[in-house]
Amino acid sequence: MIIAKTLEEFDAALKSLGKVGKLGLVPTMGALHEGHLTLIRRAVEECDAVVVSDFVNPTQFNNKDDFNTYPRTLDSDSSLLEPVGVKILLAPRVIDMYPEGAGIDTRVFDLGGLDQYGEGPRRPGHFNGMAQIVTRLFDIVKPDFAYFGEKDFQQLAIIEYFVENLRYPLTIVRCPIARGEDGLALSSRNALLTPEQRKSAPHIYEAISKAPSMVGKMSVAEVINAVTADINTNPMLETEYVEIIDARTMKPLTDWSQAGNIQLTCAVYARPVRLIDNIKLK
Ligand code: AMP
Repeated sequence: MIIAKTLEEFDAALKSLGKVGKLGLVPTMGALHEGHLTLIRRAVEECDAVVVSDFVNPTQFNNKDDFNTYPRTLDSDSSLLEPVGVKILLAPRVIDMYPEGAGIDTRVFDLGGLDQYGEGPRRPGHFNGMAQIVTRLFDIVKPDFAYFGEKDFQQLAIIEYFVENLRYPLTIVRCPIARGEDGLALSSRNALLTPEQRKSAPHIYEAISKAPSMVGKMSVAEVINAVTADINTNPMLETEYVEIIDARTMKPLTDWSQAGNIQLTCAVYARPVRLIDNIKLK
């Protein structure tokens, strides 16, 4: 595996692979865990060569503390990737990704209104920043397939939207959420939890996984209230929101008949760490 820390190194690394049939890309912010590895293993299985990017993108963080404390573990990331069969680890400098100036990008993306709900208003600028880095990675790597996790449910919908809208010649591959044995969705931020918070965090999945059996028997508002109250019984956890949304438009629903595909999404604080999760209801 070649570790490319500049775009020049990346171009040389890609050239050294010769002619590649299907090129796969798995964008990450590093601090790799088993959740990332499920995407990466799948990419290695389905593609002829795989690039993993490891870049903590400043423009998608609306909270400076979150950016500063985000775990950065390039050495252990590269040793995790080596045996999986990844060809190139792209770990660029901020200036490589933002030619307008380190961390500066004035591009504003059409996100189809999918950013109006859920995480959008709660993390102003997050999805536009995400679109800036993802399109930049697509432009640099030019993959045929790009792999993203349903853990970031809204992000995935937004990426699918702009890939189609901007006519990127690539296929987005949706990967299911990888969970720990205790049900907690794997996340780089889990490493920031205290041992006590880590013990409480699986309560989030425990609570949301009761929701599918409530569909139709209770109203949308009643399910939201029941799941919120359930999570909040845990003194370590505090819901920011629980929403039931149209899985296509991301719009919160008030009635089960308003959409064919329905997802429950939530953000929960184990302060100061913010965790997100989601589950299919219909
Ligand atoms: P991140 O490093 O958190 O930006 O995540 C990089 C990619 O891995 C994104 O497409 C995430 O959705 C995906 N990912 C992170 N955690 C998980 C998980 N537990 N299950 C599935 N995909 C995940």
